[in-house]
Amino acid sequence: MTDQIHRFIFDKYGIRGEMVKLSTSSQRMVQGHQYPLVINNLLKQAAAVNVLLATTLKFEGRISIQLQTEGSLKMLVVQTSHDLGYRGVAQYDKEIDYSGLSFKDITRNGQMCITIEPLKGKRYQGIVPLEGDNLAQSIEGYFKQSEQLKTKIWLYNDHHQVFGLMLQALPDMLDDDSFQHLVFLSTTLTEKECLTVDSETLLHRLFHQESINNLAVDPIEFSCGCSRTKMLDSLTLISDEEIEEIILEEGKLSMTCEFCLDSFAFSDMDIKQHRSLEGNSTEH
Ligand SMILES: [Zn+2]
Repeated sequence: MTDQIHRFIFDKYGIRGEMVKLSTSSQRMVQGHQYPLVINNLLKQAAAVNVLLATTLKFEGRISIQLQTEGSLKMLVVQTSHDLGYRGVAQYDKEIDYSGLSFKDITRNGQMCITIEPLKGKRYQGIVPLEGDNLAQSIEGYFKQSEQLKTKIWLYNDHHQVFGLMLQALPDMLDDDSFQHLVFLSTTLTEKECLTVDSETLLHRLFHQESINNLAVDPIEFSCGCSRTKMLDSLTLISDEEIEEIILEEGKLSMTCEFCLDSFAFSDMDIKQHRSLEGNSTEH
């Protein structure tokens, strides 16, 4: 099964929908991190919902969802680009036992920030308090508070995959009843069905009596975007003396990407070369 998203629209009602399933890419995102189960699940669901939102990007750039809380989940971020490559990472208190803890337990006094960053142009950011019993409810709350768009979201995951379904009113939505009607139909799906049945069959089961306009099916990938050059760029935050000291002690400077955990090693020569290139490029 490939990771993909189905986009569709109910022209008659003025409501759009999306269904996403992630497996390989979400496994890759959490690989090596050894997250507690509750955080592992939350990160996968955040990736699914971030991908659902990313399809609305009308320009080159990326959209991210970030949670920050005073609970044991310190920070969680997922970033998805216009070409539907995504990455995500969570930081959490490693000293506590997470068994039996829920979304609410680990996200005390939290806030959610959704940021849209075009490659060119102004970035947009919306911040709301983190409310609800789960991530789906929090995202619905975000749309209610900041975008005023009627939105309903379902998110489920198991060990192997994550499922997301979104219904969202367009500005020309016919009426509230039609939205409630589609929500009612969608609520008939069980979590087990969502995780075991393919998207085409699920969509047929739900909406075969509606006139549904299938817009596209797009593949989704894990894509970190880190590189040796970007890592070297980030070294500007460390002084020459500190770098020299590390290389003198260890023979090289090692850096690990906090998202994908790939590691990069740089020699004294690598760093000097990069800095001289950097110097040249800023002069011109
Ligand atoms: Zn990386």
